[in-house]
Amino acid sequence: MQTETKPRTKTVMEIWNKRPLIISGPCSAETEDQVVETATRLAKTGKVDVLRAGIWKPRTKPGMFEGIGVKGLPWLAHAKKISGLPVAVEVATAKHVENALQFDVDILWIGARTTVNPFSVQEVCDALRGVDIPVLIKNPINPDLELWCGGIERLQKVGMKNVGMIHRGFSNYGNTEFRNAPMWHLPIEMKRRFPDMLLVCDPSHICGNRTGLQSVAQKSIDLDFGGLMIETHLDPDNAWSDAKQQITPEILSTILDNLIWRIENTDQKEFLTALATLREQINQIDDELMALIGQRMKIADKIGAYKKENNITILQTHRWNEILAKAFKKGEKLGLSNDFITKYFDAVHMESISHQNKIMND
Ligand code: PEP
Ligand code: MN
Repeated sequence: MQTETKPRTKTVMEIWNKRPLIISGPCSAETEDQVVETATRLAKTGKVDVLRAGIWKPRTKPGMFEGIGVKGLPWLAHAKKISGLPVAVEVATAKHVENALQFDVDILWIGARTTVNPFSVQEVCDALRGVDIPVLIKNPINPDLELWCGGIERLQKVGMKNVGMIHRGFSNYGNTEFRNAPMWHLPIEMKRRFPDMLLVCDPSHICGNRTGLQSVAQKSIDLDFGGLMIETHLDPDNAWSDAKQQITPEILSTILDNLIWRIENTDQKEFLTALATLREQINQIDDELMALIGQRMKIADKIGAYKKENNITILQTHRWNEILAKAFKKGEKLGLSNDFITKYFDAVHMESISHQNKIMND
């Protein structure tokens, strides 16, 4: 166990105002050695500003590790003394706030499962009345911006002067590339609503794996986020929670080294941010269009099955001409040329026919 102490030269507020703000540490505090050693190795990289560790863990299913509890708070105090890093923990109840403050936790955050519940957010806020401490609030697990804004407003209403947001992605049904879909247009909208507020990206909970961390972190930097929160563990494979997404402090250091901080002059910065924002909107719309076309094909499949049952031909010219005539009219209003409409509908139509063909001949 490390005993050498490292005095901190900056105040918590100076650190809070640093950009980019890099927060890292284990998903959960497990043992005193783990917390202290992680803090020491993170501090050694010289690239991490704040140590995070979950003390109370909101788990989806019962019977999983639900956090070490109050017992872990002195470990954080010890880690802070040795590494010089201020510490951040997640709070979900008034009791958590009380305990965290007793042990001089420097920064608090409200987790995604808490942000969804206004009663819980208000309970945390009431416990914070009159306290001067920076608080980060994660997006709710569902893509509801008003709920996220509501949490921020509740914090501001009880006098919190230093509030920041953490984007950790949004829960989705079924397997996708991400554990929590980033839906970048949503944090972009939050940035528009709160332009001066710190916005941190949490690639660990967005990815749910190690391989995506670099590119999600890069993406957030390209979108001008103000910081990163990335989970680190001494032995990631054997972590007591979120094992798949944690990395060692040294790998974090490499990820941070490989990030490209593209932007230097402010004109260019505004231009790049605007460009990235618009591109993100286009990506989002393209995704939605693809999903809709996918849905359209599923309906075509159903029609195919129905036609097969009833012995009807796939191509019904009359129906197709009707669709095209309607589309030309609509397209005119939307500024879409007849040529484009014809090509688009031909492509969609051909795909439908090939889907139906498959069903008819199966
Ligand atoms: C965490 O930070 O470990 C955590 C529980 O995250 P989230 O609230 O984003 O699920
Ligand atoms: Mn976690």
